[in-house]
Amino acid sequence: MLHRALERGVVLFTLVAFFTALLVPAIAVQLAIVGIPAPLPAPVPSPVSAALPLPSPSPVPSAAPTPMPILRVGIQSGHLQACDVPDELSALRCAWGVSGNGWDEVVVNHQVALQVAGMLRPEGIEVDILPTTVPEEYRANLFVALHSDGYDGDRSLRGFKVARAEWSRQPAVDDALVRDLVTDYQTATGLPESRGTNTDNMTQYYAFDYAKYLHAISPSTPAAIIEMGLLTNDDDRELLTQHQERAARGIAKAVLDFLGRPSRTGL
Ligand SMILES: [Zn+2]
Repeated sequence: MLHRALERGVVLFTLVAFFTALLVPAIAVQLAIVGIPAPLPAPVPSPVSAALPLPSPSPVPSAAPTPMPILRVGIQSGHLQACDVPDELSALRCAWGVSGNGWDEVVVNHQVALQVAGMLRPEGIEVDILPTTVPEEYRANLFVALHSDGYDGDRSLRGFKVARAEWSRQPAVDDALVRDLVTDYQTATGLPESRGTNTDNMTQYYAFDYAKYLHAISPSTPAAIIEMGLLTNDDDRELLTQHQERAARGIAKAVLDFLGRPSRTGL
């Protein structure tokens, strides 16, 4: 019995071993056919790449826009603080300008100057509102003096006037500022330009006279003076007292146009 049982065991073991040898490779082939991925071997770092230094990250270019240059303009409020002038300007001491129908020029000039500054500052322009006494050798990207006219002898006279210094050392530059002021002020206000009537008080304006006065603009500062209308004329006075924002917009736009600055606020 024992011998036969051993024989059977040997035969059984032989059969199991035979079928196992057949089946295991077949199962491995089946697994490969259905796409079960075999585990990848771990990468071995190459000695060359391991020796190379890691590249440093290249700097990311900044997306911030190039800042615009800071521009400064001087808006002179004609006759402002007229009693506070130095001795070299004593001829102007307490000279408050013209008036018409109860409106004083010094008040109108200042109200318009404040509005011009209020329109230019949101445009990124630094504005100096200057009184009668200009800082010594005043330097800026431009200077505009604001005045109003009046003539009781003929109340039908009206219109605005713009001029630059007759001794300008940069006449083409100053003429460009004059042109911008004429164009933009006329467009904004609808007032007529009073041509051919510029007085010596404009072309020889004291604040332009750097040869004579210390309290004047520097020769390199582009400059003009505007007489914004006649307070003795009903139509001009209405514009300058009831619609000052139109006068201010014309002057502010001329400043931007002369400086080549596109408006941010729709001027
Ligand atoms: Zn004046």
